[in-house]
Amino acid sequence: MDFEFSAEEQAFAADVEAFLDEHATPDVADVCRENMAQIVDTPERRGFMKKLAERGWLGMTWPKDLGGQEKPGIYEYILNEALARRGAPQIGKGVGIIGKTLIRHGSQKLKDEFLPKILNAEVEFAVGYSEPQAGSDAANMQLKAEKVDGGWKLNGQKIWTTSAHFADWYWVGARSDPDKSKHDGISLFLVPMDHPGLEVRATWTIGDERTNEVFFDDVFVPDDYLVGERGRGFRYISEALDLERFTMFTYANTEQKLEELVEYARDAVRDGRPLREDPHVRQRIAQLTTQTEVARVLGLRFLDAARQVDAKPPTVQASEYKLFATQVSQRVANAMVDLAGIDGQYRVQTQEAPMRGRPDMAYRYSVIDTIGGGASEIQKNIIARRGLGLPKNF
Ligand SMILES: Cc1cc2nc3c(=O)[nH]c(=O)nc-3n(C[C@H](O)[C@H](O)[C@H](O)COP(=O)(O)OP(=O)(O)OC[C@H]3O[C@@H](n4cnc5c(N)ncnc54)[C@H](O)[C@@H]3O)c2cc1C
Repeated sequence: MDFEFSAEEQAFAADVEAFLDEHATPDVADVCRENMAQIVDTPERRGFMKKLAERGWLGMTWPKDLGGQEKPGIYEYILNEALARRGAPQIGKGVGIIGKTLIRHGSQKLKDEFLPKILNAEVEFAVGYSEPQAGSDAANMQLKAEKVDGGWKLNGQKIWTTSAHFADWYWVGARSDPDKSKHDGISLFLVPMDHPGLEVRATWTIGDERTNEVFFDDVFVPDDYLVGERGRGFRYISEALDLERFTMFTYANTEQKLEELVEYARDAVRDGRPLREDPHVRQRIAQLTTQTEVARVLGLRFLDAARQVDAKPPTVQASEYKLFATQVSQRVANAMVDLAGIDGQYRVQTQEAPMRGRPDMAYRYSVIDTIGGGASEIQKNIIARRGLGLPKNF
């Protein structure tokens, strides 16, 4: 495969950079929020997404008859990574997860209702798969979806629903057919977040960002808002997770952190000796640089495989990328803390601290990335079983 961008792709990347120079102001772009910078949680960040929409940069890969431009995935990739590099909100959830799943499996009504809103940056989603007894084992979700006249009644609880406190719609999996096998008994629904039967409670993460518990009390969902077919929800969720592992775990933030670390190591002095002269420091930075480049190339491999299998997201490549990229992010964060020495304990955004105090938040937040979207162990299981054909041993 060719790892170089074509002249047209490079021109697009330059356009994106010029756009970001103009619009990625501090109120919308903040690399210190680490991967959580991707969420669209303030009016200013919504305004920024609107500007992206006006440029025609949302849904570039979607079919033309659904408002897209049928461009290759590399364009969305270039855009998303450029956004991540600046700590700006990203296109992953609406365009990449909900939009792409609706295009493949949604009814005409859901496509008509949601796709234009996604393209115009008029809707934000929260994604609800995890429950107290269903994290890694997502197929164990127990939120109850009971068939009633004209729709469904949902009762139970979700946890870890990021964005639930500001999103407009909830993309939520529930057990519609308890008599069927665990994977075949799940259906996927779209629920308005302002439904009176939903109660959202905050959960604060180690990375100072908010996620949520959501409680359902007789939440009625009309039949029209069942996504695809009854009982096929887990298949759609699995596909959507492959997209999530790629689109929501960007590598550019890691690359940018590494550059900040290299900049620091260039001038910092420890015990009277420049850090840059320490062979251990040099070796560690060289290793991290190599690993960050490997993460980038694994991302390009995913894109290449996605093209070959005609739109169905490639599961193994998504897991390989997510596993490696998030672990490298953690290693870079660990190196930031180690090389900053005692000053690495300053809080993020402390201006006099090394690297603006980024070691603190990078260290705390990068823990989360190896858990959200499927923990590293789960990615290893997928690679072992689906990639290498090894037997299931549990
Ligand atoms: C900040 C944050 C935001 C999140 N946002 C969302 C969201 O918006 N929507 C949503 O639905 N979910 C969200 N999640 C949930 C996330 O997907 C789960 O936390 C994740 O899937 C792990 O599930 P768990 O926390 O229940 O851990 P568990 O599944 O209990 O796992 C605990 C440990 O056991 C290991 N383990 C589990 N099963 C196996 C196995 N079979 N083999 C080997 N090791 C195993 C895991 O790797 C992990 O180390 C979020 C999580 C976090 C931390």
